[in-house]
Amino acid sequence: MTVTIPQANPGAGYRALKMEIDAAVARALDSGWYILGQEGRGFEAEFANFLGAEAAVGCANGTDALALALRGLGIGAGATVITVSHTAVATVAAVEMAGATPLLLDIDPAHYTLDPAELAEVLAHPPAGLPPIRAVIVVHLYGQAADLDVILKLCRAHGVALIEDCAQAHGATLHGKRLGTIGDVGTFSLYPTKNLGALGDGGVLATNDTSLAARIAALRQYGWRTHYISDEIGVNSRLDEIQAAILRAKLPHLDAHNARRGKIADAYDAALSDLRPPARRRNATHVFHQYVLRVADRAAIQARLREQGIGTGIHYPMPVHLQPAYQDRIALGPARCQASETAAAEVLSLPMYPELTDAQVDRVCVALRSI
Ligand SMILES: *Cc1c(COP(=O)(O)O)cnc(C)c1O
Repeated sequence: MTVTIPQANPGAGYRALKMEIDAAVARALDSGWYILGQEGRGFEAEFANFLGAEAAVGCANGTDALALALRGLGIGAGATVITVSHTAVATVAAVEMAGATPLLLDIDPAHYTLDPAELAEVLAHPPAGLPPIRAVIVVHLYGQAADLDVILKLCRAHGVALIEDCAQAHGATLHGKRLGTIGDVGTFSLYPTKNLGALGDGGVLATNDTSLAARIAALRQYGWRTHYISDEIGVNSRLDEIQAAILRAKLPHLDAHNARRGKIADAYDAALSDLRPPARRRNATHVFHQYVLRVADRAAIQARLREQGIGTGIHYPMPVHLQPAYQDRIALGPARCQASETAAAEVLSLPMYPELTDAQVDRVCVALRSI
């Protein structure tokens, strides 16, 4: 049977806002200015305002946003950066792009985010043979906050920078604050399937440190602070005007889209009451980039849902430290990422996008109950 309820559906996201998006694209095309102009500046201002951050800086994608955050903080060769192995490979790739050495720790298996106990242990007793630890990148995976209450205190106590990888958590909060505004820098991917997605590649960083924002804005364009004059060695990682205009059309809908994801998650929770619905952290809003189950017989369940036209995904099938490009050469923390390896074997993502209809959600719930 063909899949009639895909796991993600960026085309439906476009069609739902087609008039607004088409008008925004036309406006950008008509302007005659295609890179770093008023659409980009407008998006940066509106996104900073949405988050409650002092500044936002657009860039080409979420991987570059992480690498630019590290470079902006002066972290590169001769520094160790702690992050997790249960994440998009981009998180770890960005650390190496910046020239730094990754150290991968395990997750708290209930929330799929950095285990603060292992972080405390590693900061107190850094592993031998690694450069000094200069930064932690927490990943708010699937749309839910990492344990920032503990992690921020640990980072401050050890003089280590905190970067929030918010590629899956646009609009999510902890204690009422938007994620991406709690650490030193927040980074966002604007890939089409993310909670806030362009119709192409895009990324954005947020910070309350305006001089850091200015440095990152220079680094994204050859290190220019003045046109044609490089203050330091930069890169080309710009957000184009067409994508910025599309994002400005979509941003006003983000909270409503996240609320709809939450309603779909509630329906899945109710259908699954006998199994274990995903844990939700207290004092936080989860924006359900993914709704993720833990199942032992994953392939069989995927096949049975597929027979009923329901698509599923796996985020992610292999932790970064086991992938061929990283295997046997990346430093691991004392927990040896064992919970990450178990999660990778068991996670299953259900269909999740705001345009799912109630009838489609019911179909998924009925199918789940029958399994
Ligand atoms: C999508 C994603 C990225 C990378 O973003 P790109 O825009 O694809 O470069 C980084 N981290 C996480 C957690 C992601 O989900």
